[in-house]
Amino acid sequence: MHKLFGLPPAGDVKINPLTLAFPPELEKAYREEQVERSMGHVRLSSYLGLFFYGVFGLLDSVLMPEVKSEFWFIRYAIFWPYAILMLLFSYTRLFRKVMQPAVSSVVLVAGLGIIAMIIIAPQQVGYLYYAGLILVFFYGYTFFKLRFVWASLTGLTIVAAYEIAAIWLRPTPFPVLVNNNFFFLTGNVFGMFACYAMEFYSRQDFIQVRLLAAEREKVDEANRELERRVRERTQQHLEANRKLMAEIGERLRTEKALRESEHRFRALSENAPDIIFTLDQDCRFTYVNPAWQGLLGYGVEEMTEKSFIQFVNPFRKNIFENLFYQVLSNKNTFRDIEAELICKDGSVRHFSVSGAPNFTSNGFVSGLIGLMKDITERKNSEEQIKFIAYHDPLTGLPNRKSFYERMEDLINASTRIDRNHWALMFLDLDRFKDVNDTMGHEIGDLILKETAIRLKKCLRRSDFVYRLGGDEFTIITTQLHSDIVVSMAAQRVLEEVARPYYLQNREIYLTGSIGISVYPENGESVEELVKNADMAMYVGKEESNRYCFYSAEMNDRALERMEIERNIRQAIDQEQLVLHYQPIVDGQREVLGVEALVRWESPDKGLIMPDRFIPVAEETGAIIPLGEWVLEQACRDAEEWRKRGRADLYVAVNLSARQFKQPNLVEMVSQMLLETGLPPGSLQLELTETSIMDEPEMAVEKMKSLHRLGVRFAVDDFGTGYSSLNYLKRFPVDTLKIDRSFIADASANKEDQEIIRAIISMARNLRMEPLAEGVEKKEQVVFLRDHGCTVMQGFYFGRPMAKQELYRFLGVKEPVAK
Ligand code: C2E
Ligand code: CA
Ligand code: CA
Repeated sequence: MHKLFGLPPAGDVKINPLTLAFPPELEKAYREEQVERSMGHVRLSSYLGLFFYGVFGLLDSVLMPEVKSEFWFIRYAIFWPYAILMLLFSYTRLFRKVMQPAVSSVVLVAGLGIIAMIIIAPQQVGYLYYAGLILVFFYGYTFFKLRFVWASLTGLTIVAAYEIAAIWLRPTPFPVLVNNNFFFLTGNVFGMFACYAMEFYSRQDFIQVRLLAAEREKVDEANRELERRVRERTQQHLEANRKLMAEIGERLRTEKALRESEHRFRALSENAPDIIFTLDQDCRFTYVNPAWQGLLGYGVEEMTEKSFIQFVNPFRKNIFENLFYQVLSNKNTFRDIEAELICKDGSVRHFSVSGAPNFTSNGFVSGLIGLMKDITERKNSEEQIKFIAYHDPLTGLPNRKSFYERMEDLINASTRIDRNHWALMFLDLDRFKDVNDTMGHEIGDLILKETAIRLKKCLRRSDFVYRLGGDEFTIITTQLHSDIVVSMAAQRVLEEVARPYYLQNREIYLTGSIGISVYPENGESVEELVKNADMAMYVGKEESNRYCFYSAEMNDRALERMEIERNIRQAIDQEQLVLHYQPIVDGQREVLGVEALVRWESPDKGLIMPDRFIPVAEETGAIIPLGEWVLEQACRDAEEWRKRGRADLYVAVNLSARQFKQPNLVEMVSQMLLETGLPPGSLQLELTETSIMDEPEMAVEKMKSLHRLGVRFAVDDFGTGYSSLNYLKRFPVDTLKIDRSFIADASANKEDQEIIRAIISMARNLRMEPLAEGVEKKEQVVFLRDHGCTVMQGFYFGRPMAKQELYRFLGVKEPVAK
């Protein structure tokens, strides 16, 4: 089998292509390719055959008319159409498909011969000739693959042999050359050779073509390869180009963006209200925007070579050194760190600083870029808010909140380190409320301010003063080595408070009371210390202008107070209260009336005096039912002795401030009088100055209403409060009870004597009856009487006594006990 691609180049073909057996697939290809060409052969051979038959047929008829048979016309007349038909047929597709070109040639010749023979000379010996042709046809058909040429040649040989034999054997007057068979033969031979030549060249051409094609294939392949490579390279180049272009584009864009961003950065930073700066590795400025100058006052050019750190508040330097280190070495960023920077003029501004590392183009940290927002205003207002939150707006002293926080801090610090001693002082101005009420809040405020200043001045640096509210101040005294330090401080404070206040052309005298609790002896928690100091302060207040250390006994009292608080209502409900009566007498020791004084007969504590439970009842509100009970009881008792012959006696009932404030007081009292049947004129209500002065307008109203009914009024404990006699004249007051503290010293103390005299004379002027309370001695009686005060009350004349006792005292027949 030949290998197509193994064949030598076309020019060097030495093989007869007709002997060449193509490999089947090639043969097929050849055939397909040659079909068209073979048609040419068929046509050519047909034309040639026709031509020769025509030419020689004409020559035959012209040159040898004698030989012309009667079938001449038929002979040619049949031949021509046949030849033409075949010729036409050769053009048809069917022919091309069905007949191989070689076969067509043979069929042409053989068919022609056979028809001619059948028509013209069936009798002739020419059978062999035609049989030979049929054989050729058969042969050629059978051994087709051996190429039709051989078949043709074989057939031709047989024909030639027959013709020669026929010429030789047949007696004829004509030379062989002009025998029509000769022409025919010659035509055939030419046709055959023409076919042969055509086939040869076509084959050779085919091979050449094939070889060329093979070569070409290689070349083409190579070319294709080349092309592919070229394409590939081109593609690569294009790709590379594209990338390059893209890169260039990108770079251009980046550069543009960079330029733009640089421009933007400049524009932004030059106009930014915040400071933008860059630092090098040593935290020295490499850039600051103009805001820097605006805010801090340093020129931008002044900043070069200067370190950021040198502008930071020295106390916060460490923080920034650390931060910057973190940024530069660990590429950290930081945000909103507060910094205080020192301005050129020495002032301090607050900034919120944020920073991030600044990178070089190859990714190394070249320094730091930072942003500083000026938060001075915010800081200031924060501080202001904080100040407000922690300070009392009136005095500027730290307030309750800071006091409690300070206490917590101290306790925490003391428990952690050694147990430092320190003390808490509670200062309360005595009767400050009265000052406020009588002189106005303006004066009150001024006094508080002044007090704050005095306190600050008289205390050590290690002491802290707070105003808790109202007239309450606290002082924390630290670094205590002994109680003396606190005592001295407390004494100084009291002295300071007692110094006269000169305000609005007035001279005002005040005192204070101080309660002291010491840490940790008097408490280890804020609550305990505060509570105990407060308790001690109340004890101090009992005598005013006094300081008082907390003691356990105070605590007992406080406990008792709590117990009272718990049980007082029960006492009212369970009728554990009793009234004692103290006589009020005139100059002749005639009893004018009695004052009802309540006592509590506790089943487990015995008789409890009102001093111990009235203030508690007052605070808790229990005074309301208590007071009503007292009033009712007193009225009933008075009505009883009235019926027993002492209709001249009045009963004095104490009204507490809270009771007096009750809106239904007038109704309550009149109701009580109605219920008990006591004439209003036999009831005297005792009010303290303070309860009248608290809300004077309301007091006047109420007192007038009751006074109209006939109820009388006495001002109790007069001289201890802050009312003036002048002021009192507006009130329907019948009796002024001079406080027993003045009476106590009346016989010796000149000053008190003066006061008593003044009160008595003014009372008289105002048409009020002066009454001296707490008269215990003869001298007092004498003094009072000498100065015109004849109504008196006191142990000298009679102690407060139970009802039965009073009956005996009055000489009234006792009612039979039920
Ligand atoms: P107060 O109204 O000033 O009553 C007079 C107090 O002085 C009574 O004390 C009485 O025992 C006492 N006393 C009378 N004469 C003398 C004396 O010569 N020397 C001394 N040292 N004391 C004398 P008591 O009964 O302990 O009452 C104390 C306070 O309790 C009363 O003072 C009054 O403010 C209040 N109180 C008593 N009972 C009632 C009540 O029913 N209602 C109200 N709201 N308060 C009452
Ligand atoms: Ca009284
Ligand atoms: Ca009194």
